[in-house]
Amino acid sequence: MIKDISLRVSPEIAATPELLSQKVFGAAGCRVNDWKIVKRSVDARKRDIIINLTVRIASGEDKKVTSGYLPVRFPNVSDSQHTVIIVGAGPAGLFGALECIRLGMRPIVLERGKDVDSRRLDIATLNREKKIDPESNYCFGEGGAGTFSDGKLYTRSKKKGNPVDVLSLLVQHGADENILIDSHPHIGSDRLPHIMKSIRQTIIASGGEVRFRTKVSRILIENGNVIGVETANGDKIMGNDVILATGHSARDVYRSLAKDGVKMEAKGLAVGVRLEHPQRLIDQIQYHNPAGRGRWLPAAEYNFVTQVDGRGVYSFCMCPGGVIVPAGSGPEELVVNGMSASARSSIWANSGMVVEIRPGDFPEYAGRGEFEMLDLVEDLEKKFYCESNDSIVAPAQRMKDFVDGKDSKNLPPSSYLPGLYEARIDRLLPPFIGQRLRKGFCEFGRKAKGFLDNNAILIGLESRTSSPVRIPRDRETLNHVEIKGLYPAGEGAGYAGGIVSAAIDGMRCARSIKQASDQSPKL
Ligand SMILES: Cc1cc2nc3c(=O)[nH]c(=O)nc-3n(C[C@H](O)[C@H](O)[C@H](O)COP(=O)(O)OP(=O)(O)OC[C@H]3O[C@@H](n4cnc5c(N)ncnc54)[C@H](O)[C@@H]3O)c2cc1C
Repeated sequence: MIKDISLRVSPEIAATPELLSQKVFGAAGCRVNDWKIVKRSVDARKRDIIINLTVRIASGEDKKVTSGYLPVRFPNVSDSQHTVIIVGAGPAGLFGALECIRLGMRPIVLERGKDVDSRRLDIATLNREKKIDPESNYCFGEGGAGTFSDGKLYTRSKKKGNPVDVLSLLVQHGADENILIDSHPHIGSDRLPHIMKSIRQTIIASGGEVRFRTKVSRILIENGNVIGVETANGDKIMGNDVILATGHSARDVYRSLAKDGVKMEAKGLAVGVRLEHPQRLIDQIQYHNPAGRGRWLPAAEYNFVTQVDGRGVYSFCMCPGGVIVPAGSGPEELVVNGMSASARSSIWANSGMVVEIRPGDFPEYAGRGEFEMLDLVEDLEKKFYCESNDSIVAPAQRMKDFVDGKDSKNLPPSSYLPGLYEARIDRLLPPFIGQRLRKGFCEFGRKAKGFLDNNAILIGLESRTSSPVRIPRDRETLNHVEIKGLYPAGEGAGYAGGIVSAAIDGMRCARSIKQASDQSPKL
């Protein structure tokens, strides 16, 4: 018999196989032939921290608990008559390509950036020389913004697809099986590059193509139908189905689409700062223990959300044991984000602390149509850059000084490699954002004693939380509302906010293309 049992155990027992197996045998109520953890979460609400486990056991005639996922067998699509052009090799593009192959279509993935190994070198240069290569950076290149990201894999978009499909494909391409059982799965920026490379190898081995350093400059449209794409060096690649998965940072793509009359609309997003605490402080707060997390617990996380004056103020993309990185994608912009390696072992904890902003919130940008929010965010990123003497050395302020409206006399050490200088972030941010953040911090400080602390610093600007533009599409077919064959996908098109939701969206677009082709009359 195969059955699941629930266990609540101490962190030490959960981390020690011999102790845990004694618990499993004791709780099973029968002779156990094999067992496996299928769900795991940390319950840190009380002083005694508990690990909740669901354990699957095999007993009686069943000798083994089978593996948690079934690998997908990808057919060879070299001879497929149905080619799908995919612009962008981020999670939406790559998972869209895998789904095309599964359905018998041949993907051609066009990526402006470099393969992940070359990209890694460019990122090291970026941090050292403080200069952003506009085609190869934390946002652009193989794997998109998902490669040198934190690799947290939880998503709220479960209605639109099954996150387990994405997690299983990640495991098939080299991720640890733990991501299938943890309630907050995480991969880490040290492991993601290898996984992205392995996905590329699957696409190529199955007869698809992945072309790097191939920037798409135009979508070719004739009589309301897509007929192909044109690259920056003038090559034309013809095809009637294009998945446009260029991410939230491809601002040149939005502008070129607008020039060609492709319908788009302004979209709300969230803007603020990265907040960095010593990880030990977060461990003490979240695990209610002055000694910190001890030997058995992972680096603690937090998640704060509140409403201030009609807008959401919340923590975003929290990276326990992580670092803050320069995540801009072009010249004259200062943007920060966070990531962590699989071990989450740095001495810092960071998160975005952001305020929701909507079209209409900044009257000076009203009337700019689809680019109302994009122009606003671009101007803010530029302001932070210019304030920093045209550099990505970033302005920073201690957290309590920000709340009290005071100068920070000095700054504590930080994980941000390009360097920091003391600045009045409270004055650099527009009052609409700064004042709400201030009130939000006070509330978070009341909820979690010790959180509002002057050993924590704010670094700006956090502005790439999602896309400032939406490319509208039909709810059912996912085709652009006006242009047949154009499938806007992922975060850049306004339909995802993270690795898993972008991957799900790319896969949905591939399925919609297949469905449309199956339904179209054959000659
Ligand atoms: C530092 C950092 C940390 C993050 N941490 C997490 C996390 O922990 N968990 C999480 O869920 N999300 C995280 N994110 C967000 C996540 O990476 C994105 O939500 C996700 O990658 C979006 O996927 P996408 O495929 O829609 O777009 P992207 O990943 O942005 O990919 C778009 C791709 O399109 C390419 N492209 C753009 N324009 C063109 C063009 N004209 N021609 C050809 N190619 C083009 C780009 O080079 C890029 O590779 C993080 C992001 C960053 C930057």
